[in-house]
Amino acid sequence: MEPPRWLEDLASEAGVIGLERAIHGDDLSIRDVEEMLREAPLHVLAAAADYYARKVKNGVGSYIVNLYLAYTNVCVTRCTFCDFYVPPERRSKGYLHPPERLGKVAGLAYNRLGVREIHMVGGNDPELPMEYYEEAVKRIKEAAPGAVLKAFTAEEIGFIAKATGNSVREVLDRLIAAGLDAMPGGGAEILSEDVRRRIAPLKISSDEFLEIHRIAHKMGLKSNITMLYAHIEDPVHVAEHIVRVRKLQEETGGFISFIPLRFNPGKTPLSRHPDYRKRGDRGGLYDLRIVAVARLALLGRIDNIMAYWISMGEKLAQAALSHGANDIGGTFYNESVISKASRLEKRKGMKPSRLAYHLTVAGWKAMERDTFYNYYQLRGEVPRHPWMHTI
Ligand code: SF4
Repeated sequence: MEPPRWLEDLASEAGVIGLERAIHGDDLSIRDVEEMLREAPLHVLAAAADYYARKVKNGVGSYIVNLYLAYTNVCVTRCTFCDFYVPPERRSKGYLHPPERLGKVAGLAYNRLGVREIHMVGGNDPELPMEYYEEAVKRIKEAAPGAVLKAFTAEEIGFIAKATGNSVREVLDRLIAAGLDAMPGGGAEILSEDVRRRIAPLKISSDEFLEIHRIAHKMGLKSNITMLYAHIEDPVHVAEHIVRVRKLQEETGGFISFIPLRFNPGKTPLSRHPDYRKRGDRGGLYDLRIVAVARLALLGRIDNIMAYWISMGEKLAQAALSHGANDIGGTFYNESVISKASRLEKRKGMKPSRLAYHLTVAGWKAMERDTFYNYYQLRGEVPRHPWMHTI
């Protein structure tokens, strides 16, 4: 990787070795990434990350028209950052969508809204048999045959395997046979075992989580990968997470995109944790540092860094599009998991024209995409605002 002279000068003036290594695409240690996060000036990180984002993506910024489905909110895993779940002892207060209903909603979204992707996740409910998941996949694929079904995080796959007495490989085999196309990246939280155990003690370990992605990739299933930040983590934990993801990507090449997820405190137990209170909200510049460092630390490994508007908020997501992100996520019609904790009503999702607007004002050539980043022309005009003429 040959950075331009101006960028080399900027990075060398900053005097951060990790950053200098990153802009040359060198191998990075946890220490290198941590140093970038802690010490590099944000304007230098932004310049480097934005330069490479536009170069790698040839100036094309994207979004997807997608539907969000959560099949159940009943969950035994009780993550401290989650406002979405209902524990099994209060099952009557929760919900479980039968496969026919999931198929019906998917069909409506496919036929009326033209969704290219159905993103489906749910709680860990020990009472659901393997056949429920297979049937859900089949019904959705029958109703929306041209949409990509991206469903079940590695956490869910690990749970389904244990709850139904199958191996991970058997679960994936059966879901792929039913029609599963890709896996979402949720459930990663922070892939630094100590912090992960504190915020999600009942989740599978970080090793198990990565192993499930490894198995899926080797079976030909692509996946995304997320990272939950702005809770009790320190820069070293973020650095460890990113370096572990980078190493797995070097091995399998199976990750499609990296998705930083800001923690939304809501009324969650984690929001009351003394370590969270001590660190506070950390403000929007922390989000921008995370996005920029992710772009630089994953350079040459993962080309797509997402500004996930649902967790970051619309304005910050727009700003992230000039700090290393090349994608603003999707319409996410019907999103319910993060919306619950953020106390914002976002279930209507965001219109494609609004997503295209955010990309355009950030200087990208806006295009629609599918799950695998195949690009398509926009379906309509990008709305123009008077101040856009000055850009
Ligand atoms: S984040 Fe997922 S696994 Fe954790 S409690 Fe919420 S629904 Fe359950």
